[in-house]
Amino acid sequence: MRKNPCPTCGTPAAWDRNPFRPFCSERCKLLDLGKWLNEEYRIPVADDESEGGETPQQ
Ligand SMILES: [Zn+2]
Repeated sequence: MRKNPCPTCGTPAAWDRNPFRPFCSERCKLLDLGKWLNEEYRIPVADDESEGGETPQQ
């Protein structure tokens, strides 16, 4: 049987017939998803004010 270490907790997780792969459980899947969402929240949005802020001289 194929097993891969869970990216969240490192427990060898069954690959075949595992709806949460590559995670070992739904909990680890949700934890990893939450981690990604948190990191996205931390990215500052700075590109919005660049438009019209500086006028190039000609
Ligand atoms: Zn896990």
